[in-house]
Amino acid sequence: MLGTIALPDSDPMVLGKLGQLASAGKIVGIKLYPGFELFYPDQPSCYPVYELCLKYDLTVVFHSGESMHEAWREEYNHPRRIAQVAEAFPKLRIVIAHFSQPHLTACRDVVLSNANVYADISGLAHPEVEECCGKATIRAVLEEVARNQPTKVLFGTDWPICDVRGHIALVESLTIPDATKARILSENAAAVFGLGGRGWGR
Ligand SMILES: [Zn+2]
Repeated sequence: MLGTIALPDSDPMVLGKLGQLASAGKIVGIKLYPGFELFYPDQPSCYPVYELCLKYDLTVVFHSGESMHEAWREEYNHPRRIAQVAEAFPKLRIVIAHFSQPHLTACRDVVLSNANVYADISGLAHPEVEECCGKATIRAVLEEVARNQPTKVLFGTDWPICDVRGHIALVESLTIPDATKARILSENAAAVFGLGGRGWGR
């Protein structure tokens, strides 16, 4: 469903293949791993990927926050770096994966201040993440974004590393309207990725 690409890599062959997959309707987005591959999302060698996403109406997803249990890697995918991309490409739909845990409040701020930035909750119900970030803090940050911008929080699980039911329970535990829970559990991702027909919900 998501294409993956190692960067810096603006290899025309790779971009061409992703373009073919996109035009065939086989991918709806591209996920990048700055903290694994060690590049910055806002470096110009990434721009061809963003231009490809705009051309084919794809969403770009950044793995963000904790990476390989090595904190120094988190600078590469920090929300402040992703904000630079959002500002340079205001029409590009961007998802910050894992709510950039443990940088939850930094992620919140970038999502709330950029119309084209969303965040998914994958991994937030993992016991290690709950211990690191605090369950109350996780809930409070998600509630703040969901109440202010209900279309911005996307469901995710990081399965098979994480438990699917635990992530559903996290959404159900939030003190937000049921309609917003429904958005988080399905409608928001359907809209962001154009599922159920290109353009659906946009
Ligand atoms: Zn990830």
